[in-house]
Amino acid sequence: MAENDADRAKYDFKKAMQEITSYRGRGTELISVYVPENKQISEVMAYLRNEQSQASNIKSKTTMNHVQSAIDSIAARLKTYKAPPANGVVIFCGEVPRAGDQTKMVQYVINPPEAITAFMYRCDSTFFTDPLDAMLLDKRSYGLITIDRSEATLGILSGSRIQVLKHFDSLVPSKHHQGGQSSVRFERLIEIAAHEFFKKVADNATEVFLNRPELIGILVGGPGATKDFFVKEEYLHHELRKKVISPLVDTGYTDESGLRELVDNAKGIIVDVRLTEEKEYMQRFFREIRKADGGLSCYGEAMVRNALDMGAVDMLLLSEALDKRRVTVQCPSGHTHDLTVPDADERIQCPECKANAQVIKDEDLIDDFFMKADEYNTKVEIISPDSEEGDMLMRAFGGIAAILRYKVSRCLSWTISLFRSAGPWRARSVRPASTSPSCPWTSAASRGRTPPWRFSPSPRCRSRTPWSTPPP
Ligand SMILES: [Zn+2]
Repeated sequence: MAENDADRAKYDFKKAMQEITSYRGRGTELISVYVPENKQISEVMAYLRNEQSQASNIKSKTTMNHVQSAIDSIAARLKTYKAPPANGVVIFCGEVPRAGDQTKMVQYVINPPEAITAFMYRCDSTFFTDPLDAMLLDKRSYGLITIDRSEATLGILSGSRIQVLKHFDSLVPSKHHQGGQSSVRFERLIEIAAHEFFKKVADNATEVFLNRPELIGILVGGPGATKDFFVKEEYLHHELRKKVISPLVDTGYTDESGLRELVDNAKGIIVDVRLTEEKEYMQRFFREIRKADGGLSCYGEAMVRNALDMGAVDMLLLSEALDKRRVTVQCPSGHTHDLTVPDADERIQCPECKANAQVIKDEDLIDDFFMKADEYNTKVEIISPDSEEGDMLMRAFGGIAAILRYKVSRCLSWTISLFRSAGPWRARSVRPASTSPSCPWTSAASRGRTPPWRFSPSPRCRSRTPWSTPPP
């Protein structure tokens, strides 16, 4: 799903940035390298060789070793490129503290969502992320209008980039300049001129904004009450009027610098627009869950995974605060299991034999869900914990919820256990015949087939029958 791809890239970028900015080196030993698209890799390598020899002057032996091995690691990574990719590439590398006295080397290779403009090499006790911070903003576009009685500017905000489209100076005379005419007549002329000016700005706004359906809103700013008058008096095309985001924004200027001011002052509003969308998704979920039979709601990792495997999930709601890993582990006896764990670095026990298991695959939990969702055309929405609804998703529903396409049985966990342990059937999933909230397979328990697998009941299953027998 193309839409999911963009959302996933955004999530991955944001997540990586959170991790990168959280690290503090023991010494001045965290290296950040920004390589713009037009930079020769060979030049960067030469630069790194020079830094490598400079590093031999570092007094602390530990810091010196850390810096040199970080530079080696970056060089090794860059060697894999013939030329920098589109937008360039940013590499962060360094030794960061772990529990106790331990350290570990981390390396992040970032393909930024917007172009890197300058080559940069930094070695510090933190990673240098300033050039990337602005790219974290919402990537969608907004129309921009700044207006007062003397001038107006139209522009577009895409990501963090502001593009000026049109600028107008008005011919509206100042109210203070009265000339020889009677003040009433002069006032009237001023109002006519102002009216013409507003009409001209609105017509141009129609021309540049109306055929851009990707604009999710229009921000209007300016110094005084003119902007409010302009919006209230309905100069704008009715389709554009629907997109005007309230509140309007105060700015000191109405020229190109006014557009920048508008965007700076509207950052909170832009965040709110996204939050409002997220709240709406959550409200949809709450409406379902309030229904007596739970409606089309589903939550908790096990239940949601089952519903996903059945292709029953329309929209997956995942909390951005879900800080977990999805790992595949293998124990010395050869048992493999997929597990969700808080930290892949921790010691993990084999669920079957309790031996220490080795992590053989490790993925961010949300990324794992993104991949699963793609198989069934399920839309994924990442919900930030910043709103009340988002907070509730995390606290009350474990950060994982779904809106379903059709109702599924509340007692589903047998399905996944069956097909997980049944080897060749694994890829298949079964839609239960019943949508009853009580377990539809309880009656099958007496059929006496010998199970080659073990079952565990869903915690929501109302029957207390031990699951020693496979369902029919
Ligand atoms: Zn085992």
